[in-house]
Amino acid sequence: MSADRLSHELPRTPLDPATAASRAGKLTISTISLCGCWGCTLSILDIDERIVPLLDKLTILRSSLTDIKRIPERCALGFVEGGVANEENIETLEHFRERCDVLISVGACAIWGGVPSLRNPIGLGECLATAYLDAPTTPPGARPTIPLHPELPRLTAKVFPCHEVVQMDYFIPGCPPDGDAVFAVLDDAVHGRPLTLPRAVTRFD
Ligand code: SF4
Repeated sequence: MSADRLSHELPRTPLDPATAASRAGKLTISTISLCGCWGCTLSILDIDERIVPLLDKLTILRSSLTDIKRIPERCALGFVEGGVANEENIETLEHFRERCDVLISVGACAIWGGVPSLRNPIGLGECLATAYLDAPTTPPGARPTIPLHPELPRLTAKVFPCHEVVQMDYFIPGCPPDGDAVFAVLDDAVHGRPLTLPRAVTRFD
């Protein structure tokens, strides 16, 4: 799906003057969770009270707290948790890419597929059969089926890291990353410094 196709679907509503004034000069950030466990999102929340002094300088457009599905305007920084496991993930990530100037993969799932990608060597068909058709908890005599409904996002054949779907600009490793690592990157961005990840807070487990 191309950004061209998405662009006509996304309303570009001008901000009302009061909102525009309140956001003037502030860094805008957004977060999203694709196929992950929300552990990386909790690491973002682990910034805790350190976010308070930054609030004069940043505006959070979309997050797990606001639950806005689309970013309503251009955004400076987007944090992405999770790999890409279904068509809705693709569309959401492409929307983020279109709206965010800098896009950051947060955690192992976003960076290389992580835990969800353990299904890749097995194959989607076998995974679905094991989960829905051959499950040991299936009652005797039941006729189990694999869920299929237009409202359910179609699974992709593989789980992809985000950078195989859109360009990603920065990576914060870990499962999950340390909250201090997320804060270090955010603090750099808010103060206009090049993004750096101190080795002391970088982890790969
Ligand atoms: Fe969860 Fe680890 Fe994936 Fe983050 S990287 S979403 S903590 S499994």
